[in-house]
Amino acid sequence: MWSLAEIVRSCADTGLSFPETVMARDSERSGMDPRSIREIMDSRLVDMERSVKEALSGDPRGKFVGGDAALMGAYGAGHTPLSGTFAVEASRIALAVSTYNASMGRIVAAPTAGSCGILPGMLFGFGSAYPAPRERLVEALTVAGGIGQVIARRATLAGATGGCQAECGAAAAMGASALVFLQGGSPEAISHAAALTIKSIMGLVCDPVAGLVEIPCVKRNGSLVALGAICADMALAGIRSAIPPDEVIDAMRSVGHSLPESLRETGTGGIAATPTGIRMKEALL
Ligand code: SF4
Repeated sequence: MWSLAEIVRSCADTGLSFPETVMARDSERSGMDPRSIREIMDSRLVDMERSVKEALSGDPRGKFVGGDAALMGAYGAGHTPLSGTFAVEASRIALAVSTYNASMGRIVAAPTAGSCGILPGMLFGFGSAYPAPRERLVEALTVAGGIGQVIARRATLAGATGGCQAECGAAAAMGASALVFLQGGSPEAISHAAALTIKSIMGLVCDPVAGLVEIPCVKRNGSLVALGAICADMALAGIRSAIPPDEVIDAMRSVGHSLPESLRETGTGGIAATPTGIRMKEALL
């Protein structure tokens, strides 16, 4: 059974770190040696970094989206942001990468294309605020991957099956856990950061205007980095989810199954069904 509790227990039993445990378990399952797995994670980080650079250096545009990252950058440069400089920088990166996805640019689906800005926003936002050795960022990406694996196996990562909680919610949970790792949190804190995030996002619907991964997707990427960051801080402060993390993920699956079809990527409910959303869709026809 895929379980965060098992990973945490294994860390305690073996003395391995959270990412080492994820790699060891992956190695057992795949037959690949841990060094090869580490190299793969490193190459994913390289791809992610390239995506961030390309997204920030251009002015990507979709059908309906574009320019939000530049606005956030200008705001961050000229103000003391209410949510803190880390959150604003992470949001800027997330907006840029997510918009780059809408313009068919290079992205790393983490875990999906629709949520592709959140994890790079949190990892590289952290890297710019608190320079970390590359090896540490690779391990943080592995932590995020380990959390994503458990969510995928116990619930889903597909908006069409579980709503946006399964895409952007999972990405924010993965990022929150990665941040806790980067800040030296325990395996238990890493798993609870994911649970705290998922509980705060539970039930989030998938409602893309005109069926395009643009509205509300890009701005969700830009805002959920902050949710993940505060949940990481809560976990680092010693706050724990009263409901065990695995049970939280199971509840997310159950909520996803309860969502009507109109709120699972069909573009027929929620924001997509507003008068403006419908007009935007009709303008494309
Ligand atoms: S609203 Fe739907 S399409 Fe957009 S990011 Fe969320 S799950 Fe993906």
